Amino acid sequence: MRIVFVASEVVPFAKTGGLADVCGTLPLALERLGHEIIVIMPRYSGIAAEKFIPGRVSTSGLGQGIKVYFIENKKFFDRPHIYGGAEGDYPDSLERFSFFCHEALRLLKDLKEPVDIIHCHDWQTGLLPLLVKKDAEADSFFQKTRVVLTLHNLAYQGVFPKGQYSKLGIGTGMFNEEGVEFHGKINLLKAGILFSDLVTTVSPGHAREIVTSEFGYGLEELLRQKKGCLVGILNGLDYDQWNPQTDPLIQPNYSDKDWLAKKILKKKLQSAFKLPSFGDIPIFGFVSRLCYQKGIDLFESAFESLMERPIQVVLQGVGEDKYQKIVQRLAKKYPQKFSALIKYDESLAHLVFAGSDFLLMPSVYEPCGLTQMIALRYGTVPIASYVGGLADTIVDLSEGALKGNGIVMPSYSVSGLLESMDRATGFFHQKDKMNALVTHAMSLRWTWDISAKRYIECYEECLK
Ligand code: ADP
Repeated sequence: MRIVFVASEVVPFAKTGGLADVCGTLPLALERLGHEIIVIMPRYSGIAAEKFIPGRVSTSGLGQGIKVYFIENKKFFDRPHIYGGAEGDYPDSLERFSFFCHEALRLLKDLKEPVDIIHCHDWQTGLLPLLVKKDAEADSFFQKTRVVLTLHNLAYQGVFPKGQYSKLGIGTGMFNEEGVEFHGKINLLKAGILFSDLVTTVSPGHAREIVTSEFGYGLEELLRQKKGCLVGILNGLDYDQWNPQTDPLIQPNYSDKDWLAKKILKKKLQSAFKLPSFGDIPIFGFVSRLCYQKGIDLFESAFESLMERPIQVVLQGVGEDKYQKIVQRLAKKYPQKFSALIKYDESLAHLVFAGSDFLLMPSVYEPCGLTQMIALRYGTVPIASYVGGLADTIVDLSEGALKGNGIVMPSYSVSGLLESMDRATGFFHQKDKMNALVTHAMSLRWTWDISAKRYIECYEECLK
């Protein structure tokens, strides 16, 4: 099969969250299964690439033979951030990503090679399924091509005022229920869902959730109509990249046979976050985009009670201004126990995963979550709410030593979070149990190979 990934962020070129991890690693697993993959993404500032079509497209590589095509446009993509800063998305986001979709389609036609599957990701590529279907009405090039859209985060839908319609470049007659309109506005994710042959999301649990009003963010009815064409496939993790034994970003390295080095890394973590090192107390890490989804509000509500306990918490994240200010304010109050670093920094994130005892993920919703898988690989035990991919991957310790790999919050509440963190602390002080848990955590794997096979089955189903 010839499969094209189109996405707004892809590791190692640009990343704000799990979308980039998926779009940079799933193609490698698909390639290992013998398929031809190409990737298309915008060329943001700082991405080194070779000229391909001067001024329009440049290229780089991924894995053994995956070509990555970068859509160029200085005005739209040569900016300090991928989507926008702490104050929110750039005001011309519709134009930026409509342009990207049009250019991706143009590039595929220029390349002249037939395409079996175009795999789109999130609202930034929501216009592309519509463009492909419209093109296929007039031209044979895409007539056999099938379009798959993966929903990594349904809360972000690419919603814009009706007045921006002309900037979509799709002519007249599409601002309606059968086109891009949703509740009187342009909704690019809705258009993507409507025009795709298959919609997937990143865990089976989340696929069940998004057809309900609680998690569907208004799109539940449309998703219910997709019925057999809505599938949940759990994300995998790249265990070559996330390996404490070889990770160049932590020193010393450690393995699942001998992880004493975690103690040294814990001290390094305290020092990086300017926290004192006192007594034998657990450290809870938090690595996250700072937004409503990630449960920062709940953390804030529980904060005063948490700070009465013999624990330390480190938080690393960037995101909305409101949340950045909240965590900075909290950090000033208890400088011995809570520290926050507002920055996107790969090395520091690896240190938090390796040096913490527990990882906090009190998410309001979590389509898959990679952070809990990473934490487990580094022998750090997740504490998480029972939603989406977290519910699919974290088994509560009450299930027994061989099954349990984390702590599942009994409810999404302050008491639920406090109770879970108290359980964690209790566990931390029972050294034999904690050691067995760390060993078990590090042995767990959610590899891409299994999920990639599932994607191939779905692509084949589409092409029948
Ligand atoms: P989401 O995609 O919702 O942000 P995931 O858990 O699926 O959440 O993936 C988050 C990814 O982004 C992980 O690889 C995590 O390590 C990384 N990440 C999040 N915040 C930061 C940060 N401030 N610095 C470095 N990496 C980060």
